[in-house]
Amino acid sequence: MNALNEKKQNLSSQILKNEIRLNARAVSRGIAVGKIVCLHGRKRQFYKINLQASQIQPELRRFRIAVGLATRQLKRISSQKSDKITEKKVNIFDAHLLILGDKSLLSKIENNISNQKINAEWAVKIATDDYIAKFKSISDEHLRERYIDLEDVADRILTALGGGNSILRLEKNSIIAAKEVKPSTLIELMGSQPQAIITENGGWTSHTFILARELNLPAITGLKRILRRVKTGDEVIVDGFGGQIIINPVKKTLQKYRVVEQEFQQDKSANLETVKGELKTLDGKEIKIRANIDLPKGYAQAKRFGAQGIGLYRSEFLFNQFKGFPSEQEQVGAYRKIARMVGEEAVRIRTFDLSVEHLADETEEKEKNPALGLRAIRLSLSHLKEYRVQLRALLQASTENNISIVLPMVSDVSEILRTKKLIEREKENLKKRKIEYGNPHLGAMIEVPSAVLMIDEIVEAVDFLCLGTNDLVQYLLAVDRDNEAVADWFRTLHPAVLRSIKTVLQAATRREIPVVVCGEMAGSPVYAPILLGLGATELSMNVNSIPRVRKIVSEIALEEAQEIVGKLDGCRSADEVEEAVSGFYQEKWAHLFSKDILPLNKNSKN
Ligand code: PEP
Ligand code: MG
Repeated sequence: MNALNEKKQNLSSQILKNEIRLNARAVSRGIAVGKIVCLHGRKRQFYKINLQASQIQPELRRFRIAVGLATRQLKRISSQKSDKITEKKVNIFDAHLLILGDKSLLSKIENNISNQKINAEWAVKIATDDYIAKFKSISDEHLRERYIDLEDVADRILTALGGGNSILRLEKNSIIAAKEVKPSTLIELMGSQPQAIITENGGWTSHTFILARELNLPAITGLKRILRRVKTGDEVIVDGFGGQIIINPVKKTLQKYRVVEQEFQQDKSANLETVKGELKTLDGKEIKIRANIDLPKGYAQAKRFGAQGIGLYRSEFLFNQFKGFPSEQEQVGAYRKIARMVGEEAVRIRTFDLSVEHLADETEEKEKNPALGLRAIRLSLSHLKEYRVQLRALLQASTENNISIVLPMVSDVSEILRTKKLIEREKENLKKRKIEYGNPHLGAMIEVPSAVLMIDEIVEAVDFLCLGTNDLVQYLLAVDRDNEAVADWFRTLHPAVLRSIKTVLQAATRREIPVVVCGEMAGSPVYAPILLGLGATELSMNVNSIPRVRKIVSEIALEEAQEIVGKLDGCRSADEVEEAVSGFYQEKWAHLFSKDILPLNKNSKN
């Protein structure tokens, strides 16, 4: 156990009066000390900001612009007469327009801004909360249900407020507390450098926490009813190693943790040294480490850590940058920029992996089950116009030569073949318009169980594979990766997962095409040796995981990893695999893995 861990464990065993210690699941490492900012809201998240007198007029203007935008959206929808919108739905939007035009509601919100000197988001919240409470107390059932319309209108205004000059700027040393944090919220708040995130919901592979690890932001999830237990301004310590928060710490605790926090910050900068040269296991097997990139600026750091190109670029993050669907030219620019940044190495750009709510217009109903819904390649293939824009942009950017296209969530070869036809059509299109294009390689994410079963056919249709273990675990084990309540069922070392990975790696080897493992499993120092033992030679991961995984890979022999994996064959459950892995690691690699990070301790997966 390193000194930092030891010191931290001593600290957590001390229980002091007046402070509250809550234990939950650590999903991004690190220590932070700061003040709570509670986030609220559904579609768009926000918090309370107290305004200076000089900010009130601009805030009123911002609010009026947002109402204007929301009104125009609603008018557009209710005037549409397409098949997609039934008359009933149009009536609903007409009702929303009436609410949005209600002078008493609007002036109440404006009064809140002026009199209470608060931001528009907060003013909308308190005004609509008040109305909603009144609706809910009405005895007539039909009228009572109308609170839902009010909630929808509030959401619409809040979303419109996020579109322009958002004033969400956190104070220094803020720690975000929320039921859950959306990735787009985190990106919006990153400009003002929050110190940590604590939430009730979310899993190890939730995109928000993937992003938190990429940004080196400590995070803890599974804190039940957190928004009832803390309030904005509370002092808090977040221990993202041990999975604990300490609310209102006493002076002594605070002093001790400040030392640990400083050590963590120094540890982070110690990682900054540049790494060069091939990465090999002790017995000489070369392993390629690539980076998973959501925000391109992270690549410079990844390169310093020795990353060889980008194994997975999640292009859907462009929606945050461009506040919606990026145009063809915006996409060409973004893809070119990242390709040039990566230089000679390859960048695998995944087509948008989004749910329908991100792409479709405002008339779409919320899906009951988005993970199983119109998502990723399915969404692209059912919105062909937008899909063709993305493919065209990728083809144009591919004059850079190092771009490959990755298709998310394919279930069999048909989605790949349809995409190939579209690519050919778009090449023709570009040729006619005398626009230059390249010939990118095409790969498939393997993350749906049917794709594993159809892998022999899939490998014939692609140039490479990306193994997305986050979704593979989710879909194989039927465990929602974002749902904290079932986090204990998200078992990366489940025998079904290991067998699937092996099947995919073997099929690719037979066809001699590369496979990059790019789920969070690849970035875990504990799981990476298992992947090598199963036959993986390319791992793509979060920037900040690279130094730890590199270290482990360079200190183990492939032969040992294969031996351990060979012994897992008889295991019948995740429990059995985890127990066996812990035993073998302690026997062979006790010098590399302290007991507390081995898989049986479920709080230490990060
Ligand atoms: C995966 O599913 O493993 C993956 C890498 O993609 P994402 O996390 O974006 O779904
Ligand atoms: Mg995925």
